[in-house]
Amino acid sequence: MLLPFRLGLSIFFVKISSRNLFQLSSCSKMVLARIARNGCQQSGGATGRYARVGSMLGEESSSVSKFHSPVSGRFTAFKQNVTPHSSNLPFFSTTGGLPALALGSRGVRTTPRYEYAHAQAAVEESDSECENLKYPTLEATKPGEKPRVVVIGSGWAACRFLKGLNTKVYEVVCISPRNHMVFTPLLASTCVGTLEFRSVAEPVNQIQTALAKEPNSHFFLASCNGLDTDKHEVLCETAADGGETHRFKVAYDKLVIASGAEPVTFGIKGVEEHAFFLREVSHAQEIRKRLLLNLMLSQYPGVSEEEKERLLHCVVIGGGPTGVEFSGELSDFIIRDVCQRYAHVKNYIQVTLIEANEILSSFDVGLRHYATKHLTKCGVRLVRGVVKEVHPNKIVLSDGSDVPYGLLVWSTGVGPSKLVKSLSLPKAPGGRIGIDDWLRVPSVEDVFAIGDCAGFVEGVGRPVLPALAQVAERQGKYLVELFNRVGKQGGGKASSGKDVPLGDPFIYKHLGSMASVGRYKALVDLRQSKDAKGLSLAGFLSWFIWRSAYLTRVISWRNRFYVAINWATTLVFGRDNSRI
Ligand SMILES: Cc1cc2nc3c(=O)[nH]c(=O)nc-3n(C[C@H](O)[C@H](O)[C@H](O)COP(=O)(O)OP(=O)(O)OC[C@H]3O[C@@H](n4cnc5c(N)ncnc54)[C@H](O)[C@@H]3O)c2cc1C
Repeated sequence: MLLPFRLGLSIFFVKISSRNLFQLSSCSKMVLARIARNGCQQSGGATGRYARVGSMLGEESSSVSKFHSPVSGRFTAFKQNVTPHSSNLPFFSTTGGLPALALGSRGVRTTPRYEYAHAQAAVEESDSECENLKYPTLEATKPGEKPRVVVIGSGWAACRFLKGLNTKVYEVVCISPRNHMVFTPLLASTCVGTLEFRSVAEPVNQIQTALAKEPNSHFFLASCNGLDTDKHEVLCETAADGGETHRFKVAYDKLVIASGAEPVTFGIKGVEEHAFFLREVSHAQEIRKRLLLNLMLSQYPGVSEEEKERLLHCVVIGGGPTGVEFSGELSDFIIRDVCQRYAHVKNYIQVTLIEANEILSSFDVGLRHYATKHLTKCGVRLVRGVVKEVHPNKIVLSDGSDVPYGLLVWSTGVGPSKLVKSLSLPKAPGGRIGIDDWLRVPSVEDVFAIGDCAGFVEGVGRPVLPALAQVAERQGKYLVELFNRVGKQGGGKASSGKDVPLGDPFIYKHLGSMASVGRYKALVDLRQSKDAKGLSLAGFLSWFIWRSAYLTRVISWRNRFYVAINWATTLVFGRDNSRI
């Protein structure tokens, strides 16, 4: 939907990294073996040699910490103007009470040591002598070894970063609860079978092959739930699909946080329990299953007219690009496929899009009118309203009216995730992780943040950028170029690189927005901002531009091929409606 990223293919570097040892105590090895059995995935072996790249500076042990000065754009020594916390810092939970700003370096204990998701457990285990025995650790790199970059997340920002990373200079560890990147602009199309799920998922270890091949580069299927900026360590929990989970730690020289955002529900009762979100492939799978199930349930003998209408009422909350694209896909599915394949119930199915304000508010006014007319013509009911509560079979609007539904999709934007809220790092307005012009997190060493989880701190004097793939991708590209440059000049190790110039700051230029509205129509808005002048188009040509732009942006040739074949198959044979 939104945006034409820069057309044409990005060139990414895939380099071979040298090796490092997974340095573990024997106890840690046993625990790690357990993790491996329980699903923590890593690539590569455990032995090897290193090429010495760059210089390693000793750790700071005074109250002077190194940080990347926003003023000079260099890594500089900086005297922290803070009162050090006591060494017995409490462990922080994910729920509030956190200081807005944590200052620290490897030498000064000024940051809380961990911010755990499971605060109570953390308190019990905190500061214990045998902490290192309890959590297997991928230890810090030694002098002479390649610096290690740890990347949290496997979305747009992380994957663009990973793809460009020079693995001759760095070893890389990626930590994410999913082992693939989701090509989100085409996700809505998978919900109704225009595209297959496989076509929008890119395995991370094919984006950065060092993760699969290099003994000292790893992908860990896990969530990060704590950060110790003093020790340069992240705390992780294995992603075990409901099974037993384990914790482990990974030491970093440089950390890139790209953990994205989470859907906002405004605390409305029942949303989490009853609505579907649309952010992951698994969400699209659930939506497709529910839609097809409801089509079949509504055909049983004895189902009342009222119940048929409810089951086949698809309600979308939120008239942003995602909500509109999903509604457009649904209406297309109904007109083209439901009418033929579910003829008994074709007159009962209905799509309602509920929005508190205007739909597509960031688009040009002419495009908004076009979208409104087009959606209405395709049978989408547009309703102005505010949701008050969500029940299993109906939603209640603030004017007191009830809206029964069989499928409810929630798409009202995103906000900071639990992880981001819990980290006591500087924050941007709105609660994202605060960053400066070079995408560094100010006042902590060697920590960077990109994508939906990051926003400029107030001091930078620039607005927080929109939560868009084009922002995330551009930040990933900018940061990896910076890393490769700094790494080649010997600044890749923890606390090193103070004299390496960082180059130009990150500047974002919006390239425009796109959204498909179904039935071979789309909107293309090439204005750089809401109030700027510029080209805007709507109709079939825009739809063609939309499809071509996204086809070129699909990351791998394999998926580009899948997408093209899926589109052609759907055009000729209609959508697949098997409920698998
Ligand atoms: C349906 C849909 C359509 C969209 N269409 C467009 C579009 O057309 N154009 C556009 O510009 N933008 C679009 N967007 C927005 C775009 O997808 C996001 O802005 C973009 O994905 C942000 O990239 P990111 O890397 O910051 O986060 P994400 O891509 O969300 O990735 C976050 C990653 O972090 C991981 N993660 C989360 N928590 C943790 C943790 N605790 N530890 C470790 N890893 C973690 C996640 O598993 C994920 O891999 C769309 C979004 C959606 C949902």
